[in-house]
Amino acid sequence: MALKIRVQSPKVKYTEDYIEAQYEYQTTNVTEDNSVNYTVTPVTTNLLIRTQLKVPKLGLMLVGWGGNNGTTITAALIANKLKLTWETKNSIQKANWYGSLIQASTVRLGKGNKEDVYVPMSWMLPMVNPDDIEVDGWDISNMNLADAMQRAKVLDIDLQKQLIPHLMHMKPRKSIYYSDFIAANQEKRANNIISGTKFEQLEKIREDIAEFKATKNLDQVIILWTANTERFSEIIPGVNDTAENLLNAIKESHSEISPSTVFAVAAALEGCTYINGSPQNTFVPGAIELAEKHKTFIGGDDFKSGQTKLKSVLVDFLVSAGIKPVSIVSYNHLGNNDGYNLSAPQQFRSKEISKSNVVDDMVQSNKILYQPGEKPDHCVVIKYVPYVGDSKRAMDEYTSEILLGGHNTIVIHNTCEDSLLASPIILDLVLLAEICSRITFKLADTKDEFTGFHSVLSILSYLCKAPLVPRGTPIVNALFRQRAAIENILKACLALPPENNMLLEHKVD
Ligand code: NAD
Repeated sequence: MALKIRVQSPKVKYTEDYIEAQYEYQTTNVTEDNSVNYTVTPVTTNLLIRTQLKVPKLGLMLVGWGGNNGTTITAALIANKLKLTWETKNSIQKANWYGSLIQASTVRLGKGNKEDVYVPMSWMLPMVNPDDIEVDGWDISNMNLADAMQRAKVLDIDLQKQLIPHLMHMKPRKSIYYSDFIAANQEKRANNIISGTKFEQLEKIREDIAEFKATKNLDQVIILWTANTERFSEIIPGVNDTAENLLNAIKESHSEISPSTVFAVAAALEGCTYINGSPQNTFVPGAIELAEKHKTFIGGDDFKSGQTKLKSVLVDFLVSAGIKPVSIVSYNHLGNNDGYNLSAPQQFRSKEISKSNVVDDMVQSNKILYQPGEKPDHCVVIKYVPYVGDSKRAMDEYTSEILLGGHNTIVIHNTCEDSLLASPIILDLVLLAEICSRITFKLADTKDEFTGFHSVLSILSYLCKAPLVPRGTPIVNALFRQRAAIENILKACLALPPENNMLLEHKVD
């Protein structure tokens, strides 16, 4: 494989199979004495980080393939692969991956002869080319992808016309439908359902995965939930609290096991990564334990696309500027099928929970502004307004306390096609999760085996509203900290230091 970036350093070894980097991982330990005195100890851990060079042939299976996101990401993959262009009322538009961190953002590699050198993030390590991803999926509606794309009303009409011949033969596989997990208003879509017990349904999903993998000759399959938001599942001791109990509960067709959890279980048993793009608690403790047991990756929850992404920037900016947000009120209205599903109280509740904790880490980081336990008032409203379709409106009001009792109010109105924001995030989740499966670590100068990332892929936090992290580890919501984690981990694989932004070479005489 031709590498775009080659590091010249005794700390980086290139073999036929992998890149091996000697990396000094620097952290800082602090002991506090009643929050008055702090003793700080810098710690250096010498690591060996190996990145496998061979890029797998990758398959992506979408749950909810016929939905707005499912059709839009499939259309974007084809449009980019075929380099489609189409006429809009303004100009000729070319296919692109705008909005994708991996495909459309850059990383500062270092200083060139004259200027800083930035490269696409996808060049940092050998990554899957989106053009080579095979797509398949399930939906409770049997509509083919061409009709489903037209129903979604997301893409320009001239692009839709070019895509129809490519999408019309794509038919979602039958899926699992339990009427009380998604809104009752979705029932009329449900004409493509696997019958039988929950265990039989699990087995069928496993067969689908194995069949897709074999037919397309794939090395790896990633499964991603972009189906409707489900209600939360109750966590019941003896039912879904451990891997063993969860498997037994599926055998007994227990009513509290959701379709999405059955998919997550199928993924773990088939050795596949499973990503949850919706807010529900698919990853009940038993599902997490099962992934850990099978050493498969899981990631989620809920794509961080519009309003929350901005919130995780704006509140970080305010709090880190020493300004105290005291009230955050977010109104949304949207008219797509997601909005229709969320108009039911239990499904709205899942979204409300997912959106509710997104500023916690920023608030907790500043004890000057916030007393222990104190938080800004935070309210989220979502309304279904059919006319606006996929073009979601988000209106936010941030009120903050400023100097000497003054107030500052910022109001933001955000209009955007929801699925055009979510689709590049789907691609990023898949590309990042895949590269994580090829990175392993060990302590230098030991006989330890190399080990991979923890099953719960917290590196995906940048892309998720309610990041899933390994038990007992910190949750970071602040967007630029999340981005820095991705960038710096990719750099560490090449024994490059984290971006420190000091530019001392220009600051010191
Ligand atoms: P959508 O309603 O257009 O698509 C969902 C699809 O899932 C539908 O085709 C439906 O038939 C199918 N479905 C429902 N239950 C299923 C099941 N059990 N198995 C298989 N298919 C099933 O919705 P969308 O706009 O594509 O959004 C999808 C999900 O992504 C929603 O849960 C939404 O909350 C979440 N999400 C979207 C965004 C965004 O910006 N678009 C952001 C964050 C989260």
